[in-house]
Amino acid sequence: MTVDHGRGTTPLDRLKAQYDRDLRCRECGYVDTDGAWQARTTGDRVSYRHVCPSCGAIETRTLRLRD
Ligand SMILES: [Zn+2]
Repeated sequence: MTVDHGRGTTPLDRLKAQYDRDLRCRECGYVDTDGAWQARTTGDRVSYRHVCPSCGAIETRTLRLRD
């Protein structure tokens, strides 16, 4: 596993980058290549939300910052 020093990359950034490559709609299969997850921090968790531009389906993911 490569650790990239010096670019200020956090585990959250890496996770978001992973999500950004995974923008295929579960409902209609549309891949939103120009889209991005919108992150919202609430307390000890981060909620990611993406709205499919094709069918309007809303995909959400929640990440806990602490266990
Ligand atoms: Zn869709």
